[in-house]
Amino acid sequence: MLEIKSLMVFYENAIAINNISMTCRQGEITGVFGANSAGKSTLMRTISGIILDQKKKQEMKGGERITILGSITFEGIDIIQMKASDRAKKGIILCPERRRIFAESSVLENLKIGGILATRSQAKKTLEYVFTIFPALKDLKKREGGFLSGGEQQMLAIGRALMAQPKLLLLDEPLLGLSPLMEKMLVKTVRDINRQTGITILISEQYSRPILPIVHYGYVLENGGAVLEGTSKELTDNPDVRSAYFGL
Ligand code: ATP
Repeated sequence: MLEIKSLMVFYENAIAINNISMTCRQGEITGVFGANSAGKSTLMRTISGIILDQKKKQEMKGGERITILGSITFEGIDIIQMKASDRAKKGIILCPERRRIFAESSVLENLKIGGILATRSQAKKTLEYVFTIFPALKDLKKREGGFLSGGEQQMLAIGRALMAQPKLLLLDEPLLGLSPLMEKMLVKTVRDINRQTGITILISEQYSRPILPIVHYGYVLENGGAVLEGTSKELTDNPDVRSAYFGL
């Protein structure tokens, strides 16, 4: 469904993504693991196209130059030059790192904003689905986003992304700062979303341990390059991976 070939991203002269080739297969969950600064967020922003907006803004300010090379094909079309808003219309939806929910809007308003491009019936159906998988959000419908806990904000960020009718859902470090209990609940819900809706998911995390059981295939990034890849089982069984990346 998504095929990345020889992707390179530079911030000015510093390389953030170094020759990454990877695939997200339709209907699967793909994981991207790596330490701080390994390039996970840059990869997510490059796939979603947000980086092009960032590039334009920087250029208008006369500041740092962002260079993107390589190809990203989504459902057979090269999207590397496509605007983020057009990618979103095609179904590539980013749930960004640190959630970025609208703090002064209520939970319901946040969800409705996510569904702004959906048809009325899609929005209605998805809202019901979001309240089914995250019943806590239903009870908090009127609460301002800024008053939610970290876990509730993450549920809201995922719910808002679902409202945008993703075909490919990009989850950038969704477990960041969550309690172990919340982490467990969220991982299970991500698996449920994938199984129940068939949405293809790309998920990034610093620590693979909680996520590995639900991914079909995973990549390990180091200094912007993919140094290892394999099925969940291959990665779990690899002794180097176990000690170096997964804390097992
Ligand atoms: P984190 O877990 O900290 O979010 P990450 O794996 O998501 O890390 P990125 O944020 O993609 O990593 O960063 C990759 C590299 O690119 C890092 O060296 C970072 O310092 C650099 N970088 C990221 N954003 C910018 C930017 N706007 N300008 C310059 N360098 C950047």
